[in-house]
Amino acid sequence: MILIIENIIFVVPLASIIRTFMKEISMVDLKSQYDRIKLEIDDAIRSVINSTAFIRGKDVKLFEDELAEYLGVRNVIGCGNGTDALQIAMMGLGLKPGDEVITTNFTFIATVEVIALLGLKPVFVDPDPNTFNISPEEVEKAITDKTKVILPVHLFGQCADMEKLTPLAKKYHLYIIEDAAQATGSEFTFKDGSVKKAGTIGNIGTTSFFPSKNLGCYGDGGALFTDDDELAKQIRSIINHGMTKKYYHDYIGVNSRLDTIQAAILRVKLKYLDSYNDARRAVADAYNKAFMFTRGISSPYRCDNSTHIFHQYTLKTEPEDRDALKEHLSVNSIPSMIYYPVPLHKQKAYQYLGCADDKFPVTEELSKRVLSLPMHTEFEDQQIDYITEKVNEFFEEI
Ligand SMILES: *Cc1c(COP(=O)(O)O)cnc(C)c1O
Repeated sequence: MILIIENIIFVVPLASIIRTFMKEISMVDLKSQYDRIKLEIDDAIRSVINSTAFIRGKDVKLFEDELAEYLGVRNVIGCGNGTDALQIAMMGLGLKPGDEVITTNFTFIATVEVIALLGLKPVFVDPDPNTFNISPEEVEKAITDKTKVILPVHLFGQCADMEKLTPLAKKYHLYIIEDAAQATGSEFTFKDGSVKKAGTIGNIGTTSFFPSKNLGCYGDGGALFTDDDELAKQIRSIINHGMTKKYYHDYIGVNSRLDTIQAAILRVKLKYLDSYNDARRAVADAYNKAFMFTRGISSPYRCDNSTHIFHQYTLKTEPEDRDALKEHLSVNSIPSMIYYPVPLHKQKAYQYLGCADDKFPVTEELSKRVLSLPMHTEFEDQQIDYITEKVNEFFEEI
């Protein structure tokens, strides 16, 4: 393209002209999303402030009931964040120090942190290289007589293979805690045709309302889901200092409640969750289409038995290309992220487990190959075109 300014001729690449008129690309765009629902959100916040019921106000109960209805689960219990939700789940199941919890080596640290904090033993297993989710075959190999829990994480927005994990838990008398922090609203379809939402299949499900999650609030928040009413009662007590009656403490609890303001915000956003997840899927479809013939990358694998709500859109490249692609995007003002760069068994804090030299070939390979592209609900078409053009340009050049 040729620009003439004050009789001086500039030759400017077309892509940079497009960029000048394009909204800046970010991994998540919470501001544009807020702008679209600003009136409702502002009203919701103002009404909590006017009520001054900041802790355990009416919106907390209303949100819990509305989310329970949406998920098709008997009990939703709000709490302070998704990490606490996992900890409280394990406290609620009465696990004892030394009990083993089998979980994936390829996840966010929160999942294992709380296992360790409670004096339980995290037992890592490799994920499936395609779905990134915990491999049921590897889980079965890791079961010992100390195993009490299988803890699948529904990573990046797609459910782990609950069809295989559920009978495994039954066979060995184990609990299942599902970490659904990245999968609120994702659905799993069993072979018998029954459909369940992520987090409502095992004994307890947990989620996070961290702002960038698919259902995010405007601060910290989390929740637990269970169909077991007795367990739900106990969990309700644990989140509030183990209190059963005011100042009577039957359990050692924690202080981890969902703030009323966050609950009021979440009530507004829950109404849009399906449309948000649809918007993410549409972005993923556009990415997939653009990369269909690109040699050198694999688009995210889609399971037949789970919907994918694309908390992340995570590509795999050859190990030698990944960092160069990230750099190429960065130079072109496109952010990207590596979830997750270091397998958990290699993390410094977990060396006491003595598993640094154990072999987790899938996790190790994934940590060198994955790259997550920007993913949110507020893209302009030209942003997607620009991102895909830059990704493809990288692979044409090598
Ligand atoms: C975000 C996340 C958590 C923790 O949630 P917080 O609300 O940040 O404590 C736990 N597990 C997974 C898989 C997550 O992505």
